[in-house]
Amino acid sequence: MPESLKPLWRLFVPALLLAIAFTQLNGTNDYIVRYQPLSGKLPYILCSIACVIAHIYNRSRLLVLAVIVGGSYWLIQYHLQYSLDQPTTYFRYTLLCLLVPANILLMMLMPEKGLWNKLSITLLVIPLVIGLVIHFYQPNDLLVQSFNALLPLRPTDGFTMSTGASVNFAVFLVLGLLVLWFKKGETEAAAIASIVAVFITLAFFAKPSISTTLFSTAGLILIISLLLRSRELAFIDELTALPGRRAFNEKLNNLGHTYSIAMIDIDHFKKFNDKYGHSVGDDVLKLVAALIGKNKGSGTAYRYGGEEFSIVYNGRTIEQCHEQLDILRQSIAEYLLIIRDDKVRKQAAQQATPKRGASRSKTGVNVTISIGISERSDKHDTPEEVLKAADKALYKAKQAGRNRVCW
Ligand code: GH3
Ligand code: MG
Ligand code: MG
Repeated sequence: MPESLKPLWRLFVPALLLAIAFTQLNGTNDYIVRYQPLSGKLPYILCSIACVIAHIYNRSRLLVLAVIVGGSYWLIQYHLQYSLDQPTTYFRYTLLCLLVPANILLMMLMPEKGLWNKLSITLLVIPLVIGLVIHFYQPNDLLVQSFNALLPLRPTDGFTMSTGASVNFAVFLVLGLLVLWFKKGETEAAAIASIVAVFITLAFFAKPSISTTLFSTAGLILIISLLLRSRELAFIDELTALPGRRAFNEKLNNLGHTYSIAMIDIDHFKKFNDKYGHSVGDDVLKLVAALIGKNKGSGTAYRYGGEEFSIVYNGRTIEQCHEQLDILRQSIAEYLLIIRDDKVRKQAAQQATPKRGASRSKTGVNVTISIGISERSDKHDTPEEVLKAADKALYKAKQAGRNRVCW
């Protein structure tokens, strides 16, 4: 899938679940009433499961999100089950409208640094402080009146939230979408879903069982997002964003009768690393992976390991894929890599052999790749044998002078 569509794809399942929850409110209300008091505890159960999984996978931001969602549900159940026309209840409702989306956005902006460090503890303390303020603070009449003048409830029939608070949600939602656009992560998508779930609940607050339905959905989205993230960690190579060896092995078990496997290896990469440093080497790996992704044709590309990649063409013979692979080889050979001078300088400093003038300008270099292809045939009729033959062909390409495709 193109990188630019990733954020939209991440929102697909959460949006679908929220849409189902919202449109099926009448149906879920019947179940929630029938299975009380257990059904009322469902958001706590789901958020607790999300916390446990987040803890197991060391995901601090999703744990914070589960605390925000579970805590907001508790505040709604404990404080907002009375008429919103009571001053204190109105004040708490409005504070929730204003502070929850802001708190979720703050969490989205933070980097993931794992659990139990200064950042994760601060991120956990913020919603707890907000929760304690909403729980204990008793506003005076003047404050409630000014809030009421600015943020009056029920601007239209059936819509409880004030226009000002709705705009506040809209602003944080747009900012959240921007963060998702840049970070592209599962956590960001789950955070946006949580903002929307809290908004729908508080905006259509008069609907029966809306908080239980929407907060259960938010809890479920958190769990799904944690599972998707852990799947991604297992199957996607972090450096290149291509599927990794585990995904490759899985693919080999699911091939049809006709298929080809291409093994790709960057030429003289050790020398490249030695000359420009490991960090520049990593940048080159990312770039080569991006070019492979762009020019792989109908195959699926994987990072096989180190500076080796693989493309699996299911349903294709060598005859049908070797031209595409030569286009790929050529596109990489012709791509002028611009190495930032600060990286070269850093490497020169590490080696303590600074080259005069070398660090003042950007350096343009080329890398080449060699490719070996093999296909399923009577001679090689298991994926392991085809892979071995592709490796042999790759060796042949290296022996023949590199920067070529052999089979
Ligand atoms: P050949 O043309 O025969 O393939 O030569 P080569 O130097 O590419 O092959 P060799 O197997 O000797 O070296 C591979 C190098 O790839 C060694 C290692 O430093 C580098 N490498 C492997 N993985 C990574 C990585 O993740 N990042 C960086 N920067 N370098 C890597
Ligand atoms: Mg190699
Ligand atoms: Mg190599």
